[in-house]
Amino acid sequence: MLKGKTAIVTGSTSGIGLGIARALAQSGANVMLNGFGDAREIEALRADLARESGAEVGYHGADMQRPDEIADLVDAAARRWGSVDILVNNAGIQHVAPLETFPEDRWNAVIAVNLSAAFHSTQKALPLMRERGWGRIINIASAHGLVASVHKAAYVAAKHGIVGLTKVTALETAQSGITCNAICPGWVLTPLVQKQIDVLAAQEGLSPLLAKQRLLSEKQPSGEFTTPEEIGGLAVFLCSAAANQIRGASLSIDGGWTAQ
Ligand code: NAD
Repeated sequence: MLKGKTAIVTGSTSGIGLGIARALAQSGANVMLNGFGDAREIEALRADLARESGAEVGYHGADMQRPDEIADLVDAAARRWGSVDILVNNAGIQHVAPLETFPEDRWNAVIAVNLSAAFHSTQKALPLMRERGWGRIINIASAHGLVASVHKAAYVAAKHGIVGLTKVTALETAQSGITCNAICPGWVLTPLVQKQIDVLAAQEGLSPLLAKQRLLSEKQPSGEFTTPEEIGGLAVFLCSAAANQIRGASLSIDGGWTAQ
């Protein structure tokens, strides 16, 4: 379905981004991976993804806190494959602390990676999409883009912000073949969430299994984690013709979290 299209997935060396990159590559898109990690492991990941999908897969190590590197990421994909058709703004970090003691540098980093990066990448990729009259911008927000939790001031602010950015992008592209939507996952068992499970287990003296169950039972009525594969499937659907008129939406994939 996506043969001949070029996709950038930020933060795709792990977790949800990797699940989305895999789903897009399996649908035929050329994919530019991005994110941090061990260089040899990333190269192995890139080669595996290319082999299993038959798509072309590249890697660019841009730091999503740096607008100049984000511009270079978009340029690199366009140079290699001629354009950028699908942009998935997924890179994200978390910091958990009460407001009064929330460190300023963590606030700035979370806002930069989880919100400002999507502004910079969208600004750079949109003209390329307009040239071809087709595009898909998919912003990975969160249940925390729709509702809040304690001790996540920067994350909740950034995720609510990206839901707003999604709507503006959708309106400014409404009369074109370019759509922009947000995906709002609930708990997904990735390294970002594993850290929070480890803290909970240590604080409450719980086993890893009980800590996972506690985390889910507090928020996610299904009692099950959303998976990167499920989110990848939703991203591919948003790239399909059936999704042509889904614009500016925030699609929950959260086991019922925000239905409460
Ligand atoms: P993860 O920690 O597994 O992956 C994050 C990715 O972002 C990694 O590839 C990492 O290298 C990359 N990254 C981090 N900082 C970066 C930077 N400065 N520049 C470039 N890359 C950077 O996390 P995840 O759970 O897969 O999260 C992915 C996205 O999904 C995030 O935006 C997160 O907020 C969102 N999300 C996650 C959950 C969840 O439960 N895991 C729920 C809702 C939303």
